[in-house]
Parts: sequence; structure tokens; C-alpha cells
Amino acid sequence: MNEQILGIHHVTAICDDAQTNLDFYSGVLGLRLVKRTVNFDAPESYHLYYGDYSGRPGTLLTFFAWPGIRRGRSGTGQVNFTAFAIPPGSIDFWKGHLARNDITATEKPPRFGEDLLGLTDPDGMSLELIETEASPGFVPWKDGPIPAEYAIRGLHSVTAEEEGYERTAKLLTDALGFHLAQQERNRFRYKIGTGTAGKTIDLLCTPDTQRGIVASGSVHHVAWRTESDVTQLTWRNKIVELGYNISPVMDRDYFHSIYFREPGGVLFEIATDPPGFTIDEPLEELGTHLRIPTWLEPARSQIEKLLPPLHLEQKAVL
Ligand code: ZN
Repeated sequence: MNEQILGIHHVTAICDDAQTNLDFYSGVLGLRLVKRTVNFDAPESYHLYYGDYSGRPGTLLTFFAWPGIRRGRSGTGQVNFTAFAIPPGSIDFWKGHLARNDITATEKPPRFGEDLLGLTDPDGMSLELIETEASPGFVPWKDGPIPAEYAIRGLHSVTAEEEGYERTAKLLTDALGFHLAQQERNRFRYKIGTGTAGKTIDLLCTPDTQRGIVASGSVHHVAWRTESDVTQLTWRNKIVELGYNISPVMDRDYFHSIYFREPGGVLFEIATDPPGFTIDEPLEELGTHLRIPTWLEPARSQIEKLLPPLHLEQKAVL
């Protein structure tokens, strides 16, 4: 039994229009829609999951689509940058690809020796593409718009902005198994183990920045991977002992979740690797049908009427 936190499980963010979101993440960035479901707490709205072909934990970015929601505000107490791993030498491809698709990419100075591009999604969410040797072992989406040799490999890291970083750092290192790996000015990089892609969180200490507002274009929470239901309960007990409020185990169908807020204000989740996305759809059909939890099936026809249509069309200009 591996009781360690294994890395990032998924990042969940908020968008306005589901179709615009799909066109961008699947159509342009080439992530596969691996589950089309609803927000279990608000079933009249979509919850879209993107990842590699197999929907492996560590490659997943998910969105609550809440049409008409106001724009969020970037600030402290939030994850403000979500970074994907791209293969070494692929930045020029990405610069050209994004330009051809009318997306502005910004070259940022190398970070801890790795080259990166910054960009924003249609809701203003800040993303980064970071060239890294570390491979999270992704499975390429053969029918996707991006040639496999350039494709996004999964999540690289998240950057949380914090007014003060010490208490968050203490939680990461004393409880969750991270260590301070690197530091550059006000950026503190924490890794699990060797810190290959998907096992890294940066804390950016910005005491003069105003507090963020979570709405469209914001990260809602970041989830950390645990091996099983048994290890999740061990984590739950440990976090209760540390004095945090933590949710009971919630069944999210594709994984089981517990939630708590870290001292700086970012919502953390600990999610199980199993059962995964093939529990209700075969691998080759992931994301092609609306899947809803069994307890919502009696309301399926009403739910389907409330959800806007969603088309899986690839939009990228190559
Ligand atoms: Zn989550």
C-alpha cells in the first residue's frame, strides 16, 4: 500500500460557455474530452473533464460550466496558473500553433531551467506550457488535433498565490509529503519525490496583491492523488488531527473525494485514483455521451433539456 500523495489528480476550474471551452481545450490544445457529465451539486450544468487519451489522473483539467457567471479576479488565496507539460523542443510548434489559432502566447523567462509559454483561455484563465524532460507517462490521443510528438503530456504544476506562504508550506511539507525543492525570489517550489511533472506546486508569495475572487476563469480547487479508499481514510484522519475542517468522503463516480481549505485559502481535495473514467464508458467512447450518476438517471430527460448542445468538432488550424 502506498500511503504517499502521488501527485496532482486534477485541477477543476470554472468557465462560462461549455462549447467555447470545448473548442479551446479539445479543439486547439488537443486535450481529449474524457467525460461529459453534470455538476453533481448543480445537475443543470455541465462538468467537463479533459485529459490524455486514457483520462489518467495527473493529466486532468475539469470545468464547471456556469453560463452567465461573472469573471473571477486573480489574487491571493487562489491557484492562478495551471501549467501543462510539453515535450522538450516543442515551444516553437506551440508558438506557431497558438498564433495560427489567434491565441496570444507570451514567452516568459525560463523557470528553474525550463522554458515556458504563458497564455489565457477564453475565460481569462492563466495557463502555462512548460517544456520538461519529465514524462508523466501520458497516452496520446491519436485522433486529436496535435501531432503526438508535440502533444501536452499532462499537468506540470500549479502556482498558488499566497499572502504569506509559511503555513501553507508547513501543511505541504509536514503533512502532505512535499519538500522545498527550489526557490527563486518570491517563488517557492515544492515537490513530491523526484517531482516529475504533475508532482509540483509553486507558492508565489505576493503580500501586496489583493485577494482573488473565484468565478469564471478561476481555478476552483486542486485535487491530490491517493491510491485507494483505504489510504484516503488515513489522510482524512490525519487532516482532522491537524485541526482542519474536512468534508466526508464524496462519491464522484470516477473517484472519491475529500475537501479541505489550506491555510492560504485554496480549496484542496484528495481524490482516489480508482475507479476511473472507464467505469461507465469504454475507453474508445470516453466523452462522447452524457453520463450522469445513477441517482440522477430518473431526471435525465429534464437534465438533457436544460443543457446546451455540445459538439465535438475539432477547430484547430494546423
Ligand atoms: Zn475535484
